[in-house]
Amino acid sequence: MFDFTTVEKNLKARGYAVRVYATLKEAADYLDGALDNVTVGIGGSATVKASGLYDRLSRHNTVIWHWMQEPAAQARRNAMDTAAYLTSVNALAESGEMVSIDGAGNRISSMLFGHEKIYFLVGRNKITPTYEDAIWRARNVAAPKRAQQLNAKTPCALEGNRCYDCKSPERICRGMVTLWSPMSSMEAEVLLIDEELGL
Ligand code: SF4
Repeated sequence: MFDFTTVEKNLKARGYAVRVYATLKEAADYLDGALDNVTVGIGGSATVKASGLYDRLSRHNTVIWHWMQEPAAQARRNAMDTAAYLTSVNALAESGEMVSIDGAGNRISSMLFGHEKIYFLVGRNKITPTYEDAIWRARNVAAPKRAQQLNAKTPCALEGNRCYDCKSPERICRGMVTLWSPMSSMEAEVLLIDEELGL
């Protein structure tokens, strides 16, 4: 199993609750039990999508996710006012900083304010040795992969797997948030998962 010891210790020191799972399925089982009869918002996340939690939680919660509901713009707004929020991050430094990039802003906004509790689902591939590496990963690995998925007309999607800090109208990364600690306005739990998940 991946050695989560250092990152777990540092996340706890920063004020996060932390759980470690061998598989995404086990993490999803936990969340399916922990969240019942509440409103749940979900940010754009391949990890959450792979978990199957949208369907599972929708059976006994009110779940809002712009990847699954139309109009997406309204779903984005509604998801910002839910009790619980599920998301991943683009990178997590072993020292505990979490880095995330966004285009529309709903996901990184929800990391900062508006919920009673936020859950971060983080696969082992998101973990980097340092904070600087986390920023580099978010900008040069996660964002270009997402641009390629979306067939964006951006240099990272068309020319290569790095960020060109483009000025393209289709630029997908328009803001970046670092969480040094959980926001004081909401509880935060990090689920560390020993699988390669998301971008
Ligand atoms: S700024 Fe442009 S080139 Fe860099 S990752 Fe974002 S979309 Fe790609």
